Amino acid sequence: MLKRLIIPHGAAGAAATAAREGYPFEICGALAGRFEAEEARVARIVPLPNSAEESQRRRRFTIDPVLIVRLDRELRRSGESLVGFYHSHPDHEAAPSATDLEFFRLWPETVWLIIPVKSGEPGLVRAWWLASDAEKATELEVVSGA
Ligand SMILES: [Zn+2]
Repeated sequence: MLKRLIIPHGAAGAAATAAREGYPFEICGALAGRFEAEEARVARIVPLPNSAEESQRRRRFTIDPVLIVRLDRELRRSGESLVGFYHSHPDHEAAPSATDLEFFRLWPETVWLIIPVKSGEPGLVRAWWLASDAEKATELEVVSGA
């Protein structure tokens, strides 16, 4: 059972900057790294376009599955894993929405990092995990590494 997400300051900072610059729209991307026992260790973030319709981008995100499959293949080739995804929640708490949960189910066994952005300023991130047989997402401890 996964318990922790470890993210380097650089990667966390890059995600926060993207979330600030993308405000008031949701920004999104993938987390590359590796799984190690109860921990998911992020090495870097990989920004991906939010392909939701423009009128919906303040409240939702969509990542083209073709990009995800391609990225997953590239990462495996270099010995990394697709650890999960990140996206921002403009003026909304960092908990998964109903549409987020639908998306989680498409990519099981991945970590979901959510960056809340209040009035343009990124706040404390939270990370979630949805086990393949679970109804609800469980929260992971987020540890900021060097
Ligand atoms: Zn969301």
